[in-house]
Amino acid sequence: MYKNYKKMTKANKKKKYYCPRCKNEKIIDFDDFIHCPKCNLDFDKEFFGVVDDENMLSRQELGGFIDVFNDEEKKNLLENEL
Ligand SMILES: [Zn+2]
Repeated sequence: MYKNYKKMTKANKKKKYYCPRCKNEKIIDFDDFIHCPKCNLDFDKEFFGVVDDENMLSRQELGGFIDVFNDEEKKNLLENEL
């Protein structure tokens, strides 16, 4: 009996985020930033709708940010999402 089987539900309110650099929509949606696997860049969500795409700076370009996630964790997330 699987009556108590819990379905994985994605209750996230999805706003359409995309990579401002390559317009890739297959980005990885983190809580406060998105990651583009193509460019291998992270963009803060707070810049979306505020800064023009071409003026958008990635976290890497802004500098001073260290990866919040270790490589292993990021790799797992990438594999799950794509
Ligand atoms: Zn990109």
